[in-house]
Amino acid sequence: MTFRSESSAVPSVILNDGHLIPRLGFGVFQVPEGQTFDTVTAALEAGYRSIDTAAAYGNEAEVGRAITESGIPREDVFVTTKLWNSDQGYDSTLRAFDASMERLGFDYLDLYLIHWPVPQADRYIDTFRAFQTLKSQGRIGSIGVSNFQIDHLRRLIGETGEVPAVNQIELHPALAQTTLRAFHAEHGIATEAWSPLGQGAELKDPTVTTIAEQVGRTPAQVLIRWHLQLGNIVIPKSVTPSRIRENFDVFGFELDADQMTTLSALDTGSRVGPDPDTFAMGLD
Ligand code: NAD
Repeated sequence: MTFRSESSAVPSVILNDGHLIPRLGFGVFQVPEGQTFDTVTAALEAGYRSIDTAAAYGNEAEVGRAITESGIPREDVFVTTKLWNSDQGYDSTLRAFDASMERLGFDYLDLYLIHWPVPQADRYIDTFRAFQTLKSQGRIGSIGVSNFQIDHLRRLIGETGEVPAVNQIELHPALAQTTLRAFHAEHGIATEAWSPLGQGAELKDPTVTTIAEQVGRTPAQVLIRWHLQLGNIVIPKSVTPSRIRENFDVFGFELDADQMTTLSALDTGSRVGPDPDTFAMGLD
């Protein structure tokens, strides 16, 4: 098993376990089976070397096939998948991991995330213990969580003795997550932003379009730059090859301090996705 080294055009974040994750990756939520192979192929051709999928997205098999058939060495691509809510629990997590790896067609995974905390099920501690087992067996490089709030993180760290490498959370200017990001920074957890473009809605915001005109870039590039300059790992999604390339072309310009502050002032605490304290899809 060989994990990524610093080799691509995208700078990396060093995780708290020493592994490297590219700051910019590609997400495939809502990319249907049938379209995922071509979409991931386009992303790899554009230069992305980090792909974010999940068991619940139903497209792990095509993600794996696109990476394998690209001819890019496996160790040059950082692959993330997520454990679905209905599979939480120690034994069920071990089984779900095997099933994901079977679909991906890989013998190791770079990053495994608990997709949602589902606090009412009260199984995320046992789930993370299974993650620790898989990591100790060398089958996963890094283990982390997604959609965890501060109280879930405190309990996880307290009861398992391990700080997750990553918390992947909904994050865009309208939901800037200042408090949670500060907690992450204090504890050495990398912040990964999902729906970094607010699922497209924030691209039309006049504040965003004005800054885009100022810097001669597109609204999507401005938002991705905002994430990168804040220190977030960012995983925008598109199925349109020209937009896939556009979203990758974000390393040749910078936002100034005023532009960063103006974008951060759009924070209203508005979610496009569910509330992590109550979301329990998949539970009986
Ligand atoms: P996003 O914020 O990346 O927005 C994607 C949408 O923005 C596209 O469908 C398209 O409509 C638009 N868009 C993208 N690039 C554009 C461009 N250059 N110009 C114009 N419009 C453009 O939303 P997302 O897909 O929800 O989030 C990104 C990734 O985050 C997902 O694919 C997935 O991997 C991850 N995610 C994780 C969770 C979780 O619970 N962990 C939840 C949602 C998403």
